[in-house]
Amino acid sequence: MDYDLVVIGAGPTGLFAAYYAGFRGLSMAVVDSLPEPGGQVTAMYPEKMIYDVGGFPAVRGRDLVQGLVDQAAPWKPDYLLGRKAEKLESVDGGLELTLDGGDVLRAGAVLITAGIGEFTPRPLPAGDGWLGRGMVHFVPTLAAHAGQHVVVVGGGDSAFDWCLALHPVAASVTLVHRRAKFRAAESIVRQVRELGVRLVTDAEVARFVEAPDGSLAAVDVTVKGGADEQLRADAVVAALGFTADLGPIESWGLEIDHRAIAVDSTMATARPRVYAAGDVAAYPGKVKLIATGFGEAATAVNNIAVALNPEAHLFPGHSSNVE
Ligand SMILES: Cc1cc2nc3c(=O)[nH]c(=O)nc-3n(C[C@H](O)[C@H](O)[C@H](O)COP(=O)(O)OP(=O)(O)OC[C@H]3O[C@@H](n4cnc5c(N)ncnc54)[C@H](O)[C@@H]3O)c2cc1C
Repeated sequence: MDYDLVVIGAGPTGLFAAYYAGFRGLSMAVVDSLPEPGGQVTAMYPEKMIYDVGGFPAVRGRDLVQGLVDQAAPWKPDYLLGRKAEKLESVDGGLELTLDGGDVLRAGAVLITAGIGEFTPRPLPAGDGWLGRGMVHFVPTLAAHAGQHVVVVGGGDSAFDWCLALHPVAASVTLVHRRAKFRAAESIVRQVRELGVRLVTDAEVARFVEAPDGSLAAVDVTVKGGADEQLRADAVVAALGFTADLGPIESWGLEIDHRAIAVDSTMATARPRVYAAGDVAAYPGKVKLIATGFGEAATAVNNIAVALNPEAHLFPGHSSNVE
């Protein structure tokens, strides 16, 4: 086998499972179709404060993810990021997981921590061909936008979150939304207005304007019933939301209900050596929270340790006793 355990999904649950697998002495890889670890937290709310993770009265999403990566690091997980898990086959007591591009990972067990599935950002048609050349769907680091003129497109919570987070570092932030009404919570809209961020409503980004050196210079905006205008832009954050889809996992012979995988109290699925934890795992009374995913990751990995080695103890011992 290449690994004792392959974890599918580098969200909070998968990252904590990586720590736990290392603690249990298992070799492991973590696969995620996103280019960065952190799952929903990184994709949708890295700058938001989270108040319901045990031990942290308040923690910024980005910092929680970094803490999880640091916690797993001593066990050296192999991160296969930007890679999608496509096919799962059982072979001689183990499993073979095929990734997009055709690479095959052989594992003793697989833990699916795929959350609400693979994210696909809703496209901004005018930005076709500009992804990575001035347009982003989410902002991995605020520092990348320091001193830039940024146009944020969208009218939901994440568009307004980006305005709040970028305002202190960017040269200017302008929000463009195609309606007059916003979907975002009123309190955050108020905060953004109070900061003086310009909100251009009933408006659509119609064209990206290229600078002579090929970089982004501006965007042309059409305004319903008003004068069209050009906004200076070094970067466009297309925050139009994501669609999420379990995709290939639905065809792996698991029991799937309402886009979640049925598990028992050991987090085992209907397939031998295949476990699930976090948002993607379903059982009666399930509550989808980061804290729940952490507990389920520990339960899953300890049971996997026994499935791989029947002489191993289910109880891992206390980490506080480990030198
Ligand atoms: C705006 C917002 C605010 C929230 N606030 C809170 C909060 O305050 N407190 C709280 O506890 N929870 C909160 N949540 C919920 C919390 O983010 C989730 O419960 C948590 O992220 C679940 O973690 P996970 O690791 O199980 O799944 P996810 O975070 O969804 O991660 C799953 C990962 O699996 C990857 N993946 C899926 N399919 C594949 C595949 N086939 N191949 C490769 N990779 C794949 C995805 O790319 C993703 O990165 C919030 C959610 C949102 C959207």
